[in-house]
Amino acid sequence: MTLNTVLRSFSLLLNLLLVSHIGDARASYRDFNIPPSKATVDVRVFNVANLTLVNTTHAFILPVLEGHESAHFPMYSFLVEHKKSSTRLMFDLGIRQDPENTPPSISFFITAGLASLEPYKDITQLLQNGGIGLNTINGVIWSHAHFDHVGDMSKFPNSTNIIIGPETDTSIFPENPNATLQASDFAGHNITKLDFASSKLVFAGLKAVDYFGDGSFYLVDTPGHLPGHLTALARVTSTSFVVLGGDTFHHAGQARPRPQFQRNFPCPAHLLEDTKTSMSTDFFWSPGSRLGSFDLRSRAHALLTLSDLPDSFYADPVKAGVSLEKVASFDADPDFLVVAAHDISIRSAIPYFPKYINGWKASKLKERTVWNFVDESNPAFVFSPINSTK
Ligand SMILES: [Zn+2]
Repeated sequence: MTLNTVLRSFSLLLNLLLVSHIGDARASYRDFNIPPSKATVDVRVFNVANLTLVNTTHAFILPVLEGHESAHFPMYSFLVEHKKSSTRLMFDLGIRQDPENTPPSISFFITAGLASLEPYKDITQLLQNGGIGLNTINGVIWSHAHFDHVGDMSKFPNSTNIIIGPETDTSIFPENPNATLQASDFAGHNITKLDFASSKLVFAGLKAVDYFGDGSFYLVDTPGHLPGHLTALARVTSTSFVVLGGDTFHHAGQARPRPQFQRNFPCPAHLLEDTKTSMSTDFFWSPGSRLGSFDLRSRAHALLTLSDLPDSFYADPVKAGVSLEKVASFDADPDFLVVAAHDISIRSAIPYFPKYINGWKASKLKERTVWNFVDESNPAFVFSPINSTK
């Protein structure tokens, strides 16, 4: 044994001791009191559309630096298959093909030119093109009832149920002039409102429902963005999960970094080096930073906050912040891959339908992508001003 090896073993041991003494240290799904199970679901991801919301970034994230005023969002939709019961569920549907036919409070964004969409297909077309008959979809879960998640339910057969959070506002236009939903979003479908009150399952402080009763798929109460907002824990191997994050956060920088995340997913050296100069110290700071030289490693809280401005898209920013804090503890854990509905930082890295995302852990997808958002070449990079006169 060389001196070097001895020193390395000693420092490893010291690290282990340190980590084991940190109260909230989590390194496995078992630390969240999630019961062990061999039952799994298969998960496949679609990106339904790419949406730009002009001059609207401030309604989602803060701070907004010059040149980043418009928000760019993919819209992920998930096909969840429970083979044992031959059940297929969708989690979120993205935006319908004809957004101009939504109630005025939504169609206004389109007609006023505040929202623009790249050409896209409705999720029902994407499913059918992929050989998934709509009559095989037993249920659609809306993480929440915003237009970019509810799709167009009129295209699904009546046998497809709608599953929503208990506090979800189901009022429709024109009865409620401000409603974003309309009669065709519900017509003919059974609606299940989940019941968290009688559930005994609590993971990371979040109430959960075991949807299939076998530990393969949990729906989780994460209010704040809207009342009744849901996320899901999809067990894709016996020891790993995909967290379908909905709109718990809109940008990876609202979830990261946090101390436990920094410990479990150290930032690659080349990015640490780049961010010294790429991140503006006028807007971002940390104990190890110097003016003009940002130190990412010593940053102990998320870089961006949830917008709490009057026109925030977070209905209750304080509640949303608490839900995010809890979901972020999954994000910090190596057994969970968190995919928020609009996280652009991973848009080019996700293995899309017909591929499965089940193998994310074996393929090291998380290690490869969690720091994408601080890479200057990634579309999620919003950490230095873009001077338009340059
Ligand atoms: Zn939303």
